[in-house]
Amino acid sequence: MTDFTTTVYYDDDADRTHIDDKTVAILGYGSQGHAHAQNLDESGVDVVVGLREDSSSRDAAREDGLRVATPTEAAAEADIVSVLVPDTVQPAVFEEIRDELDAGDTLQFAHGFNIHYNQIRPPEDVDVTLVAPKSPGHLVRRNYESGEGTPGLIAVYQDTTGEAKEEALAYAHGIGCTRAGVIQTSFREETETDLFGEQAVLCGGVTSLVKQGYETLVDAGYSPEMAYFECLNELKLIVDLMYEDGLGGMWHSVSDTAEFGGLTRGDRVVDEHSRERMEEVLEEVQDGTFAREWILENQAGRPSYSQLKEAEENHDIEDVGGRLRELFAWADEADDTEKAEAPADD
Ligand code: NAD
Ligand code: MG
Repeated sequence: MTDFTTTVYYDDDADRTHIDDKTVAILGYGSQGHAHAQNLDESGVDVVVGLREDSSSRDAAREDGLRVATPTEAAAEADIVSVLVPDTVQPAVFEEIRDELDAGDTLQFAHGFNIHYNQIRPPEDVDVTLVAPKSPGHLVRRNYESGEGTPGLIAVYQDTTGEAKEEALAYAHGIGCTRAGVIQTSFREETETDLFGEQAVLCGGVTSLVKQGYETLVDAGYSPEMAYFECLNELKLIVDLMYEDGLGGMWHSVSDTAEFGGLTRGDRVVDEHSRERMEEVLEEVQDGTFAREWILENQAGRPSYSQLKEAEENHDIEDVGGRLRELFAWADEADDTEKAEAPADD
């Protein structure tokens, strides 16, 4: 077996004394917030959810049996303040709660953007950490309930107590991440790889590949339905195979014809030009160009974002796909079982 270049931490590596007597404020009750709050609460940690008086999430948090306060009250009471509102909202929320951070408290994030790009400048006498499950929140919750875990990352930006890493590991244990494995990274590495991955490969790269493939077939006279199945629907099956057994597992499962065709043609489609574009995209992440663009876009009320979203929603493949998915019951079932078995390691 290959040696990992980094340590993977599991349940036994976490010392719960670093969190068991503490109060954790969870600011925000969205994707990550509801999962962290409920998992920590069930694992015996004192949790208070910080939400504005007019927040529509207040009822949901109460119905889930959690204590709710305003963000300021929650932060005042807490030893660990976990900032789980959207990244674009975090700087404003931080201004509201900064005076409630006592020396030795922890300001914690699930993504490094605002710290790495200096949108939040924390006081010098608090610990600043990151605990980031590598998964959407609903799976963090579902995996916790089923006894599995969700792989995660921890990072320490500022360690005034000398215990920041131990506390982050204990928190990761509390939300179930050490069941699956936790890797230590830095705020810079987490932020830059996360942004690059979602732009070049996961969200941006893959949707562009799908749309270009679909358009190529439709423009050549093939039916949109066939193009949808070939270029979008089947992608899930291929990705599932890669997820389970790597690229080799996928190549093994497809026909020899598919393998030969893919091996000879794939690098012609995504070639050295795409690679150069990827390097540009990475540079824009590294030098702050992307961060600046996104921050300004938000300040301006998201004009380009809205336009691009609308164009994407109006693409033909969405119309064809929507109608086809309605005809096929398996789309709903797939939704419930999409969670491929995550490697649990207790
Ligand atoms: P989200 O979009 O689900 O929203 C979080 C919650 O914040 C909302 O439900 C609401 O309670 C509150 N909120 C929304 N707007 C607000 C406002 N204007 N003022 C005050 N509160 C407001 O957020 P999320 O996706 O859970 O992201 C939280 C953090 O977790 C981010 O830093 C994100 O990068 C990180 N993260 C998310 C994921 C994911 O899959 N969603 C994965 C890893 C890390
Ligand atoms: Mg405090």
